[in-house]
Amino acid sequence: MSNLNDALSRALADPSRSVVWDGRWYTCGEVRAHVEEIRSQLSALGVRPGHRVMVALPNSYAFVVSYLACLDHGAICVPANSEMPTGELERALARYRADYGIVAPAAGERWGDLLRAHRFTRGPSVDAERGQVVQIWQRSSGSAPEARQGTSEQQPAVLMFTSGTTGEPKGVLLTHGHLFAAVQNVMRSHELTASDVAYCILPLFHINGQVIVLLSTLVSGGRIVMRDKFHASLFWDDIRHHGVTWVSCVPTILSIVAKRPVPKEALGTLRFLRSASAPLTPAVAARMEAACGVPVIEAYGMTEAAGQICTNPLPPGARKPGSVGKPVGMSLLIVDAERKPVAPYELGEIAIRGANVIEHYEGMEPAPDYGYGPGWIYTGDLGYMDEDGYVYITGRAKEMINRAGEKISPREIEDVLNAHEAVARSAVVGLPDPLYGERAVAWVVPEEPDAIDADALRAELESLCAAHLARPKRPSQIVIARSLPVNATGKVQKHVLRNLEPRDRL
Ligand code: ATP
Ligand code: MG
Repeated sequence: MSNLNDALSRALADPSRSVVWDGRWYTCGEVRAHVEEIRSQLSALGVRPGHRVMVALPNSYAFVVSYLACLDHGAICVPANSEMPTGELERALARYRADYGIVAPAAGERWGDLLRAHRFTRGPSVDAERGQVVQIWQRSSGSAPEARQGTSEQQPAVLMFTSGTTGEPKGVLLTHGHLFAAVQNVMRSHELTASDVAYCILPLFHINGQVIVLLSTLVSGGRIVMRDKFHASLFWDDIRHHGVTWVSCVPTILSIVAKRPVPKEALGTLRFLRSASAPLTPAVAARMEAACGVPVIEAYGMTEAAGQICTNPLPPGARKPGSVGKPVGMSLLIVDAERKPVAPYELGEIAIRGANVIEHYEGMEPAPDYGYGPGWIYTGDLGYMDEDGYVYITGRAKEMINRAGEKISPREIEDVLNAHEAVARSAVVGLPDPLYGERAVAWVVPEEPDAIDADALRAELESLCAAHLARPKRPSQIVIARSLPVNATGKVQKHVLRNLEPRDRL
């Protein structure tokens, strides 16, 4: 296989093969015809290779063909959340700098005034059957496409933005080469073949849904069952009905699913469940494995690596609870504050390098060479490696709490709180403290907020912390809350939480 577009063409070659289910099965022949239709509309509007095209569509067949049309045409796809409120789109447009947009009619309606205010006009619509309509918008007096230099591998393919968990989202320009390398790593580690059926419930505008689920499945010749989003009530029925073989999940999905009965007849085809994007509580993984008898594979990924960095292996390989597994197809180091590699079990920052990894963010310089070669990026994730090369994530550098000089990992406190059976999720942040500089405040969402006695739960959590955490690490306050601020991928936005008044409220 030479490059991503060739690999996709080969995988979609058989016109009668069913490949995407979205209300009905679409064949490779239909996919190719719709991709060509959108591509030629883009071309007629003046889109050239290197032009940026925002693709703001919900998870749908329409997203798949629009995305593939951009890749095929050499345009830079900028996937966007189609549910963004207008205010957020306004800020996003400044970051995207896209002169073209492919949007769903409903979003076109909601965003029309704003798009027009930004000099966009509505162009043609492409109807890929039964509600799968896309509108193409074009900005008048747009800019020239970005110059193309280098091999086909080096051509930019998608401009992604990080999830914005720790602050403003950062721009990550992924090339065809990055995506193809990422896809090969995923196919290898999850042993994906043409007989696989992936269940797509994660947003396609995020790297996990887009590369791990969509591209890896398409390139491996498998099939995809698409839902607009995760619906707990459809999960097992969809798996059973469509013979799904694997599902890429985030921990929140697994904890919701783990609470519902697992219909045994749904399990016939399922090979594994994958969890990434945020820490998976070992108890949830164990509950899920016991309930459905298939491995729960924890992986670690980030936008900057076009998806996956590490993963636990499938059986007979050993899964280690609490670990995100080993790097696949790329290099990983744990480094100290001077950015020098540390020994096994020593804590440090995770640095990565590989054919799937960007060397710098949009508009920023690459990191200097610290003596082990160029091309490394420093993830801001903290962790350690064991003697077998398995990686354990302990938190994020930006979220470490500095209490009178003592560095406290919120993750360590969250792990203790999450172990309580009445706790659905927790998040610990550092707040300014006149005496200690910072103090740890824990926000806890109970499994059943309506049935819980908040004071009793708080008291139990305080004794749990007293039993498991040294005094300085114990949260100075435990707030019982109904929900936490999360972003579109379900991650807790700690920078938002830090600005909330930590009042005990339920
Ligand atoms: P931003 O960079 O804008 O703050 P983000 O880092 O959440 O947002 P993504 O690229 O979507 O944006 O997420 C990658 C991050 O998610 C990783 O750097 C890591 O912190 C976290 N992550 C991913 N998988 C896991 C995992 N299995 N366990 C713990 N953390 C994980
Ligand atoms: Mg990040």
